[in-house]
Amino acid sequence: MVKKMDMLYEGKAKKVFLTDDPDILWIEYKDDATAFDGKKKGTIMGKGELNNAISSIFFSMLKDHGIENHFVEKISDTEQLVKRTDIIMVEVIVRNIAAGGMAKRLGIPEGTPLKSTVVEFCYKSDELGDPMINDYHIAALDLATKEQVAEITDITLKVNEVLKQYLAERKVKLVDFKLEFGLFHGKVLLSDEISPDTCRFWDSETNEKLDKDRFRRDMGHVEDAYREILKRLTEKA
Ligand code: UDP
Repeated sequence: MVKKMDMLYEGKAKKVFLTDDPDILWIEYKDDATAFDGKKKGTIMGKGELNNAISSIFFSMLKDHGIENHFVEKISDTEQLVKRTDIIMVEVIVRNIAAGGMAKRLGIPEGTPLKSTVVEFCYKSDELGDPMINDYHIAALDLATKEQVAEITDITLKVNEVLKQYLAERKVKLVDFKLEFGLFHGKVLLSDEISPDTCRFWDSETNEKLDKDRFRRDMGHVEDAYREILKRLTEKA
């Protein structure tokens, strides 16, 4: 077991610590919640524990399906060890059903199924509100190479297929989600988290929202929704 060292940084939902192994980081999930690029702030009781558990399950499951990622192991209710990567400053958004930003921007009613999967890239910058960019911007700004973007897209689409199927078996629709990638010794590696903070999950039958939109839109029962996702993941698994 590695030893926890100095804090590297504190993010909106997680604290990141160095360890005595230069390849391993120690992550602590917090109950803090933010939305709208940090403009809305709050606390979701128990979120740290729930997202640590949920993200651990997703990343282990993806690994079992041949999708390598940064997850190493869950070490406590709110902590996990991950591989240390150099983060690529791009957020990758995948959409199966129109919602949130896309529904608004293109004037499509939320809940409209999309004929094919949409992949979007955003430049990771709270200050700028994570503006959408394309692969030309990514190359021009030297955020990643064309080859890396191709690999990221390939992994992203695989994650979508595996996650969609896995969630469908648990009566959850995968509406959209966000992924982040890093470079581990120069190799593209799926990283960050996959949780109700970073995905839109709707109940398959009722379309009830089981994700952070309950916090963003002040719908209440935020913690219950996260707990319901964990329940569905653990009951069937
Ligand atoms: N998302 C995220 N972090 C961000 C922006 C988006 O995790 O900084 C996720 C969000 O939870 C949703 C998907 O990406 O599942 C698409 O979000 P959208 O672009 O619709 O943005 P939002 O509705 O948050 O403005």
